[in-house]
Amino acid sequence: MNELQTRIVEIFEDSPDMIFGFTDISYSDFGEEFKSGLVFAVPYTQQLSLNNYNEKAFHEGILGAKDRLEVKVGEIENVLKKDGIRYYVPEVAQKDDGRFRAEFSFKDAAASAGVGWFGKNDVIITEKYGPRVRLSAILIDYDFEYGKAYEKCMCPPDCDKCVEVCPAHALLNVRWKLGMGRDDIIDISRCNKVRSAFMDKLGRWGACALCLASCPYGKG
Ligand code: SF4
Ligand code: SF4
Repeated sequence: MNELQTRIVEIFEDSPDMIFGFTDISYSDFGEEFKSGLVFAVPYTQQLSLNNYNEKAFHEGILGAKDRLEVKVGEIENVLKKDGIRYYVPEVAQKDDGRFRAEFSFKDAAASAGVGWFGKNDVIITEKYGPRVRLSAILIDYDFEYGKAYEKCMCPPDCDKCVEVCPAHALLNVRWKLGMGRDDIIDISRCNKVRSAFMDKLGRWGACALCLASCPYGKG
């Protein structure tokens, strides 16, 4: 591990609950500009299951994780700025162009860095918290030692809890493997329709997370 990587790893020492990894990003649209991605997963501050799931608590859990995540990004940026290393923090938001894709997929990077695998809900599943994490990534023009990528779904073979609970029947009951795309796993237009209905009703974005709350990994 080089000296910069060691210093970045040390930044996470005060947050042992955060999961992070480094990956080569030559597979991505940013591959010519940046050598590596640092991906990290911050657990939602409220870890909900179907037993205690409610929209408000779910939303608050996300916001709590977002606050912690922003602090951590700032700390890493300080190190990179000090050393004059080129980096970029990709936008989280999906483009509203009918395809609903972000400019850089945190999920692809998380699988590639060994942070988690794609579950049948098309969400990254971490061993410790399941899908109850907020992801972020920083693209860095520097070489690092990379994590061991997940190349297939590690969910229990007989589990389909997320598929069964989805009110939109949006999940296609498919076990991910490397090379598959989002459309192989989820009908995103069906999912977005249900989420929009929640949003209209409750005035919040990103609502409906039953496919997260149902996951047995990291059950709160
Ligand atoms: S967020 Fe809701 S609608 Fe979308 S896939 Fe999950 S359970 Fe289905
Ligand atoms: S509910 Fe089961 S199939 Fe769905 S993501 Fe979680 S472990 Fe995988």
